[in-house]
Amino acid sequence: MSDHHHDHASEPGSPLAETDLRVRALESLLVEKGLVDPAALDAVIDTYETKVGPRNGARVVARAWVDPAFRARLLADATAAIAELGYMGRQGEDMVALENTPKVHNLVVCTLCSCYPWPVLGLPPVWYKSAPYRSRAVLDPRGVLREFGVELGDDVEVRVWDSTSEMRYLVLPERPAGTEGMSEEALAQLVTRDSMIGVAKVTPPARGGPR
Ligand code: FE
Repeated sequence: MSDHHHDHASEPGSPLAETDLRVRALESLLVEKGLVDPAALDAVIDTYETKVGPRNGARVVARAWVDPAFRARLLADATAAIAELGYMGRQGEDMVALENTPKVHNLVVCTLCSCYPWPVLGLPPVWYKSAPYRSRAVLDPRGVLREFGVELGDDVEVRVWDSTSEMRYLVLPERPAGTEGMSEEALAQLVTRDSMIGVAKVTPPARGGPR
């Protein structure tokens, strides 16, 4: 994997390492002066991890579920199809969509660092960057999936995809049963970040539950 160049890495001397240091210095100064509440900063980061970023990917998935022509374009050239919805930019230049089926489950990892498709998923969650996930996703993908609550039958093939700066992946999860007739917008609400990394399935809306 010698071609695994990661321009978001934090090697000393790289531009991002310097930016990172400056951000940290600024943050501690602002907190020290009482100008910023660290909890508020965490809340902002959490918003981009779990809400703003992944909503883009969720719209891509929902469109693919309702529009077979778009789905075909997404699977043929994900970068171009995703750009149709206006999502493009850094860390999303070379996208590949991976379709989950009843017989194939795709799981995405970056074994060396934290390569992640920013335009469709936002910021990577902490566990995605953690050493245990990065190694165990490859060594024991079924065990990892079980810990995330996904139990797969022996007849399901698990494919693990190692992200690099050359290739970023978006899992196209299976559309859950019982969602026929739901609008594209309502479907997008069902799609979680984790389902697009491949550590979760999309679950149908609870019967009679709050919408
Ligand atoms: Fe990486």
